[in-house]
Amino acid sequence: MLRVGVNGYGTIGKRVADAIRAQPDMVVCGVAKRSPDYVAVGAAEESYPVYAVDGERTEEFRSIGIDLAGTVDELVDESDVMVDATPSGVGADNRSLYERHDTPALFQGGEDATVAEVSFNARVNYEEATGADYARVVSCNTTGLSRFVAPIEENYGIEKARATLIRRGGDPDQTGRGPINDAVPDPVSIPSHHGPDVQTIFPDLDIDTIGLKVPTTMMHVHAVNVTLEEAPDDVSEIRDRLRAEDRLVLIPEYAGIDGAGTLKDFALDAGRPRGDIWENCIWEESLTLEGSDLYCMQAIHQESDVVPENVDALRALSGHLSGPESRSLTNETLGIGL
Ligand code: NAD
Repeated sequence: MLRVGVNGYGTIGKRVADAIRAQPDMVVCGVAKRSPDYVAVGAAEESYPVYAVDGERTEEFRSIGIDLAGTVDELVDESDVMVDATPSGVGADNRSLYERHDTPALFQGGEDATVAEVSFNARVNYEEATGADYARVVSCNTTGLSRFVAPIEENYGIEKARATLIRRGGDPDQTGRGPINDAVPDPVSIPSHHGPDVQTIFPDLDIDTIGLKVPTTMMHVHAVNVTLEEAPDDVSEIRDRLRAEDRLVLIPEYAGIDGAGTLKDFALDAGRPRGDIWENCIWEESLTLEGSDLYCMQAIHQESDVVPENVDALRALSGHLSGPESRSLTNETLGIGL
């Protein structure tokens, strides 16, 4: 049984902890929290042992009924592997903490690629992370693009990929983020940094990306155009290949799912925890082939698509299952596939 500690119990950390708990071969050793807030209370109510990031706040935790299990140092020491889900940049600072305890760790996509020896996507390069001490699970957008690119690249070859990322302004709990009433080029320089991040997974892929931020907390939407090296005669062949992918979902026309809002409503109706959507959601009607140019639009749930990737990355580091075995176990235990 793999004992996993989670450092940074926020949007990503709490979801990864719950996903780990659903696995038969791993257990949550504890979660490290900095602030004694409602999320900390939630962790305690879920019976996760709570460890303090800041030992001086022990009394504050106790005053709201949380008896701390120890300090983050102790959590790292007791864990076989850590998931670092702290805010961007903090993970890099934490690497020395994990090294000090000789504890392997996963970092998240907000960190620079240099934080770990491998950037990870379960569909593409599971084997590269096998037995590594440190890996970075790439960002929500990079995960979404990598899952789409993989079967296209394998079957048709890609001459050039282009993606416009219409990004949610912030997560639902990020009350201070925006824009409130605008569509903002972000970054305004073209190409955006997202393409080079995809190249940490596909080093030889020619890809340019453009980014904007819009006033929604729901999901990101990608408008993708891929020029194929060898296009099939009909787009239906591509559609069938995408449908066969475990973490891609094609939204059929009849469903009447016309945006990220209806997708989230559907996920809640389906009883998904927190309304999470772990899969890329590709509008089937948008899949279009014009000569050798393939087009589509897909929605990416930023809060959750990286969650199954974290679970698989933990198995890759520990080296006890192959990529396909891990993915299928993760899919089955989480209920992936809408
Ligand atoms: P978050 O702010 O929701 O959660 C981070 C948590 O870490 C918070 O609870 C915060 O209090 C805590 N924290 C802050 N400093 C800490 C420290 N020194 N030690 C331990 N905990 C500390 O952030 P998030 O959205 O979960 O993002 C975490 C990482 O995941 C980032 O690298 C981010 O880029 C990446 N990521 C985020 C999303 C997303 O859309 N939210 C998607 C994919 C990847």
